[in-house]
Amino acid sequence: MKDLLVMKFGGTSVGSAERMRAAASLALAERPRRPVAMVVSAMSKITDLLLDTMRHAEAGDRAGMARNLAALRARHEDACRDLLPAARHAPVMAAIHKLIADFERITGGMAMLNVRPPRSVDEAVATGERLSALLISEHLKAEGIPAAMIDALDVVVTDAVFGNASPLMEPTREKARQRVLPLLEKGILPVVTGFNGATADGRPTTLGRGGSDFSASILAAALDASELWIWTDVDGIMSADPRLVPDAVVLDEITYAEAAELAYNGAKVLHARTLAPLVEKRIPVWSKNSFAPEKPGTRIVPASSASTGARAVTSMPKVALVSLEPLSPELSGAQIMARSLDALAHANVEVLGLTSSGYRQNFCFLVGEGELERAVEAVESALALELAHGYVKPVQVDGNVGLLAVVGEGMQGKPGLAGRVFTAISREAVNVIAIAQGASELTIAIVVRRDGLEKAVRAIHAECGMGGSKSLDVSR
Ligand code: ASP
Ligand code: MG
Repeated sequence: MKDLLVMKFGGTSVGSAERMRAAASLALAERPRRPVAMVVSAMSKITDLLLDTMRHAEAGDRAGMARNLAALRARHEDACRDLLPAARHAPVMAAIHKLIADFERITGGMAMLNVRPPRSVDEAVATGERLSALLISEHLKAEGIPAAMIDALDVVVTDAVFGNASPLMEPTREKARQRVLPLLEKGILPVVTGFNGATADGRPTTLGRGGSDFSASILAAALDASELWIWTDVDGIMSADPRLVPDAVVLDEITYAEAAELAYNGAKVLHARTLAPLVEKRIPVWSKNSFAPEKPGTRIVPASSASTGARAVTSMPKVALVSLEPLSPELSGAQIMARSLDALAHANVEVLGLTSSGYRQNFCFLVGEGELERAVEAVESALALELAHGYVKPVQVDGNVGLLAVVGEGMQGKPGLAGRVFTAISREAVNVIAIAQGASELTIAIVVRRDGLEKAVRAIHAECGMGGSKSLDVSR
């Protein structure tokens, strides 16, 4: 649709009645100029609460479930009372209770059978988004704005990877045209749930934690939007985590590729898969702060003219390095690696980095702490025979590591840069454990001892002149 603006609001940006009001007025401020569609996350912390409730259910802990359900109800009832005029309280409370009852029905089943199947988790966990989309659309209507809540399970068609589904763009485009476009054409503001979708045969799915950004970009691509604005609680995408690096700055503009690399390597401001659906249509994205909307934010564009060296450095403390080493010379290291990676892919483990060495054919890969157990299980079962016979050394895990990544399109073909990065780290006496440079030359990823991570990040940020002082020549 011509000139369509898709606006996505994260959990803190809809975390209370007051924030929902602010979100609605940010959308309404643009609406005189162009059509707007909203995509919303659950209220802050609600998805964690829902997932925790399902863990209690699996354990058969009825008291824990009841406690969480009471908190879930109270948070949304409070928001309803604060947000809406008294006349709307009864019907909207009823709708809230209906959504929570659906959630309770599914978790009740889990408690009865002591299971927590991914498929049922996906059916239940988007309740938070349904509740927030309901409240925001009701608020808009109460303000006299024609609005409609849309459950993305009627729009976003995905594969059947529960918990981390991928969109199927053609059927999604078709559904968006049927379900969302007619509303926009009638001047109705759609408020779409983030995070969720459904398979072609209607089984509910979710797009992974933090997936509402991805929902918004899927919708923007499906509707040929002209822009996507992602509202969060920070000023934009920064040159480093400001809690680690006090002189970190907000970047005015970065490319899709840079943003994706930053997200994959631990920058929390954007879900890593957000940019992919936008590449073909080259839809520009803004990352903006709903708590300080007057600030410009960061513009994310398909390609940038300015080649500006290293732009940002990210860090991920909660990772672990898993190593494998064939002991038998008869064994092909490439085979072991291929089977391990295959097992990891099947277990839906995200491999954050991978290095190998020719001699003795050992290799190691990096995963998030949360996926470590699943990763080791997957590899151990794929190589059960080789491990049992001692052809492969027992899987080694090193949890005392951290990942940092230096990102910038302008690093391509700047031979001195890697040297400067490593010199900066070594000056801090930080131990480098593994290095990976993507084929794109956009990113240098470095695994260091965990206690050296923060020092290394600060040293690189200073060395590459990423901080406030613009006078530094960053393209050296
Ligand atoms: N509410 C979901 C989560 O917390 C999705 C999102 O916020 O983007 O993961
Ligand atoms: Mg988010």
